[in-house]
Amino acid sequence: KSFNSTTTTGSSIRVVCRFRPLTELESKRNEHSIVQFHDEKSFSIRQKDGNNPQFSFDRVFGFKDSQNVIFQDVATPIVKDFLDGYHGTIIAYGQTASGKTFTIYGEEGNDDQGESNYGIIPRVIEDIFFGIQKMREENSSISIAFALKMSAFELYKEKINDLYDPTKINLSIREHPNNGIYVENITEQIISTTDEAFDFLNTANNNRAVASTNMSAASSRSHSIVMIELSQQNILTSSKSSKLFLVDLAGSERASKTGAEGQRMEEAKNINMSLSTLGSVINSLTTGKAHIPYRDSKLTRVLQESLGGNAKTSLIIACSPSNYNENETISTILFGIRAK
Ligand code: ADP
Ligand code: MG
Repeated sequence: KSFNSTTTTGSSIRVVCRFRPLTELESKRNEHSIVQFHDEKSFSIRQKDGNNPQFSFDRVFGFKDSQNVIFQDVATPIVKDFLDGYHGTIIAYGQTASGKTFTIYGEEGNDDQGESNYGIIPRVIEDIFFGIQKMREENSSISIAFALKMSAFELYKEKINDLYDPTKINLSIREHPNNGIYVENITEQIISTTDEAFDFLNTANNNRAVASTNMSAASSRSHSIVMIELSQQNILTSSKSSKLFLVDLAGSERASKTGAEGQRMEEAKNINMSLSTLGSVINSLTTGKAHIPYRDSKLTRVLQESLGGNAKTSLIIACSPSNYNENETISTILFGIRAK
């Protein structure tokens, strides 16, 4: 059987799939990889029932693909558009421990090729500052004012909490007639150097960790969203503003599998609802449906203007290669397939 999730040319939505290597623990437990890579766009899964389904995506990343390879393929076209004034979104989807945070944020240190393990966000920040510097040099005769702002928030049980200033909880989504959809009262930190951006991220990440211990919400049960906004104003033409959303989704594992009750069940229901709405929104966009169900979850409502239309979107399907995770991996892959 064969499943396809590749794009027709011109589509603004790409779906790519990344398999992390087996972890040390998985190897120690004698688990093995069930993925067989065919080419840059396809792979198959050796299922224990003997089936061998094949899947195609816009791009497939394997064990040896570095953080830089993923950044170049997934993020650089979106940053280029962002600098030109278009919104963009990069989303990581997958079960807990599939590599979402590694892909979106990354880690300190280097891989075995000696390349940095920084993920998409820090690389995007450097690329944006590089791009602004280049535009300044190329347009040295016209004065352009660039302003960069960052926000970070989590979505937990359909509530928006500021990750930079944790005193701000349960914030509302509003719509402004000119400036569009925004989160009311969210901290918008003005950023003028890469160091300031990294400080902002560190604060947000520390708060995410603290918040998850206090509310007993592990980071795997909340969606974490970083927003970068660029305003460009030059005295000759009108101003333009673009938003880039970088989304590390809550773990996609089923509630039933973890035997969730009470609080956990409530979390799982909200996660399932927002993830299935995200899938429907992306699918409605790619298949050209008239009604896009943005309003069915806060996640899609907040991302509304950066999904579809002129905005570029990349969905990264993060997978474990281990036989232990076969069922979860298949349903993760099918989410990506159905999104197109
Ligand atoms: P998630 O955010 O989906 O829960 P993580 O990003 O925390 O998962 O990854 C789980 C583990 O796998 C971490 O220990 C991480 O270091 C490791 N890992 C994930 N992706 C890779 C990769 N591409 N290469 C090496 N290690 C990875
Ligand atoms: Mg994570």
